[in-house]
Amino acid sequence: LFSAVEMAPRDPILGLNEQFNADTNPKKVNLGVGVYYDDNGKLPLLECVRAAEKQMMEAPKARGYLPIDGIAAYDAAVQGLVFGADSEPVKGKRVATVQALGGTGGLKIGADFLKRISPSAKVLISDPSWENHRALFTNAGFTVETYAYYDAARRGINFDGMLTALNQAAEGTIVVLHACCHNPTGYDLTPAQWDQVVAATKAKKLVPFLDMAYQGFGSGIAEDGAVIGKFVASGQDFFVSTSFSKSFSLYGERVGALSVLCASAEEASRVLSQLKIVIRTNYSNPPTHGGQVVATVLNTPALRAQWEEELAGMRQRIKQMRVALVEKLKAAGVKQDMSFIAQQVGMFSYSGLSKDQMVRLRSEFGVYGVDSGRICVAALNSKNIDYVCESIAKVVG
Ligand code: PMP
Repeated sequence: LFSAVEMAPRDPILGLNEQFNADTNPKKVNLGVGVYYDDNGKLPLLECVRAAEKQMMEAPKARGYLPIDGIAAYDAAVQGLVFGADSEPVKGKRVATVQALGGTGGLKIGADFLKRISPSAKVLISDPSWENHRALFTNAGFTVETYAYYDAARRGINFDGMLTALNQAAEGTIVVLHACCHNPTGYDLTPAQWDQVVAATKAKKLVPFLDMAYQGFGSGIAEDGAVIGKFVASGQDFFVSTSFSKSFSLYGERVGALSVLCASAEEASRVLSQLKIVIRTNYSNPPTHGGQVVATVLNTPALRAQWEEELAGMRQRIKQMRVALVEKLKAAGVKQDMSFIAQQVGMFSYSGLSKDQMVRLRSEFGVYGVDSGRICVAALNSKNIDYVCESIAKVVG
């Protein structure tokens, strides 16, 4: 049965982690990960999460099956975050939201549902994009192509190229957009550029699919969510996947969601019924713990305030690391202007380093980043940043 099964290629980032773990260099630093670490290099357990879990432990509940679409209070909290609790789509019940297994799960439920209703549509992702976008939509049965995004020479976005690609796309094309904190480049569209993207997807009758894996890591919860308001105002139907992996530091609990904005409450109830079939035939219903933690935090005013503060702390620490990186690279003797690093947002930076330089950083200095030049700024801290800057200076100098 399995004699002809080929070995699948290794996941490049997980492979990097294995190499990092095997490295005996005492100064080694892992900047290849997609995880936020605190200034002590530790994965944080947020205080709001600890408090919610304490509350849950004090009133333990039996673990029955959840509804197929998850905890109702969780889904409502997601809608509040993404669209605004008092927004017209939420009040008018035009949003179908389901709890999902992380942001990845939200994307996959959306992809499987889209395959049923638009089997011949193409999918466009940014060039480059989170590496799982292509695989996920391909495995859902779609042909995946790219729209222009990163402009290496200008250290920014090739916005004209992006708009051209959207304007040339066939009606019904599914366009995956990073709502904020673009992974891997760290370059986000300006509000004025978003307006043009919203107008293009509307004019060309494309299907926007917003991947919101970092709400609150860019400028703030409401600020990062503003792009959703632009799509709502344009009157388009669209998809939003949500992830709480980073914003709650709940990676392993797999807490995310999919929301689909529909034209009416009646349409939303039909869409929800189909999303439930996708879920039912994949894993039946979501797990209880992570969703309950997030629902408790978001629906308890004091815990919610604490979460917003802790999230702001993570966001500010990343910004400080960006500024420090620029200064310390200069101090370490890097001649080229690296100030673009402080303009990028989110957990990642496209550092502009070449593959050869990234390989040298790894093999000579134990500083691990992705071959594309992507480094995780959220894995830098006050203890490792000097060594990282000195190492980078040696490979670029
Ligand atoms: N989308 C993007 C852009 C991401 O960076 C990630 C996580 N790295 C995800 C989706 C998936 O999130 P989760 O881990 O919650 O599945």
